[in-house]
Amino acid sequence: MRFNSTRNRTSTVDLPTAVLTGLAPDGGLYLPERLPSLPHAFWDQLPNLDFIEVATDFLAALVGNALAKDELRATIEGAFTFDAPLVPVTDRISVLELFHGPTLAFKDFGARFMARLMLKLRGTRKLTVLVATSGDTGAAVAAGFHRVPGIDVYVLYPSQRVSPLQEKQLTTWGDNITALEIEGTFDDCQRMVKAAFLDPGLSDLGLTSANSINIARLLPQCTYYLRAMQQLRRAEPVVFSVPSGNLGNVCAGIMAHLVGLPVERFVVAQNANDAFEQYLQTGVVPERRATRTLSNAMDVSVPSNLERLTGLLSLEQLRHLTMSSTLDDQGTLAVMARVDRAHGVVLDPHTAVGWHGAEQALDQLGPGVQAIVLATAHPAKFPEVVEEAMGRRSDTPERLRSMVDRRKVAYRLPPDHQALEDALRGRLSALSAD
Ligand SMILES: *Cc1c(COP(=O)(O)O)cnc(C)c1O
Repeated sequence: MRFNSTRNRTSTVDLPTAVLTGLAPDGGLYLPERLPSLPHAFWDQLPNLDFIEVATDFLAALVGNALAKDELRATIEGAFTFDAPLVPVTDRISVLELFHGPTLAFKDFGARFMARLMLKLRGTRKLTVLVATSGDTGAAVAAGFHRVPGIDVYVLYPSQRVSPLQEKQLTTWGDNITALEIEGTFDDCQRMVKAAFLDPGLSDLGLTSANSINIARLLPQCTYYLRAMQQLRRAEPVVFSVPSGNLGNVCAGIMAHLVGLPVERFVVAQNANDAFEQYLQTGVVPERRATRTLSNAMDVSVPSNLERLTGLLSLEQLRHLTMSSTLDDQGTLAVMARVDRAHGVVLDPHTAVGWHGAEQALDQLGPGVQAIVLATAHPAKFPEVVEEAMGRRSDTPERLRSMVDRRKVAYRLPPDHQALEDALRGRLSALSAD
């Protein structure tokens, strides 16, 4: 399989180039040149296979002979050391728990796969991974790449805009992981990363991206949609409700669907940052600043993967396959309280936004469908919000508790290109460390 840019579908690159450069030279995002279709036998057997088997067969079809199948299997086995259980909550809504990895968010799937794949593909090249994060991405990437030989990681996060726990997960690794605290918004972080990639003066650093703009993050995320289907107990057609920010997660689901996974609709569930809704209505994304919300990993004003979605589907097709929902902070707290009271299930604020999307879709589509909400983070990552919604904290898993006592080390940077270049060139001593 070869990959091409969303901005130029005619020239193609191989898998190592797509993965190790992250962004195409023309500023576009890589997509597989074509989406394969898997044989009926694969879909028929789906319930009988284990997760690793399913993921290997599925991704083998997507990457083709770019990677030997046993190498692909080893990469997946090393990355997917935890499951994605589907938990029925009401008779029509189930929750797919994607937070059983080391940093308690779905991004562990993509980040762990990408780290192992990059290690395989890099050969003797030295790599510098840049990642802009609104919270969870950076944590997953730092954890996934920590102590991976020959790869340095710089995590850019917006100062004061991640939760205290998230900040610990970004800033306490050391070794090959450097945390950069940017005096700006997530959009600033993302802009700085994009500018660094396009700067020929930095090409000696072997810069690559670990954001969801990297196809290596997106591909493994397709597979847990299949894992959800394996665990279904009812036969009705499925609506997936996906808490969304940069639209990587829902893009992965849509790719799985285009390869053959039967899905009725995808709900793109957003907080007050409703760029996708605006896009569906008008065909353009308005220029706005991101709004801060309780579901901060979704505080994105310009979703980078929209370019992939529109590369895969026309606006009309998107309107057909997707629905959009939005929920403000007040509504998010109300959903968390209500689901806890009614079902004894604690949702994190992102998943609560997804829950609302599922309810709205079921209302709109009527009987005969069921909904799966992607639980993108564990509620213990957001103890302040959980307490505000429910008047008590949820249980904290040990792998999170152990981070709290570690010491934060981060370098503060203004949101400009020169500052980032200084940091990447190791001129960090001029910067203040917190
Ligand atoms: C990153 C993240 C999202 C948004 O995912 P996208 O792929 O950017 O749409 C939602 N919830 C949580 C908890 C996240 O960390």
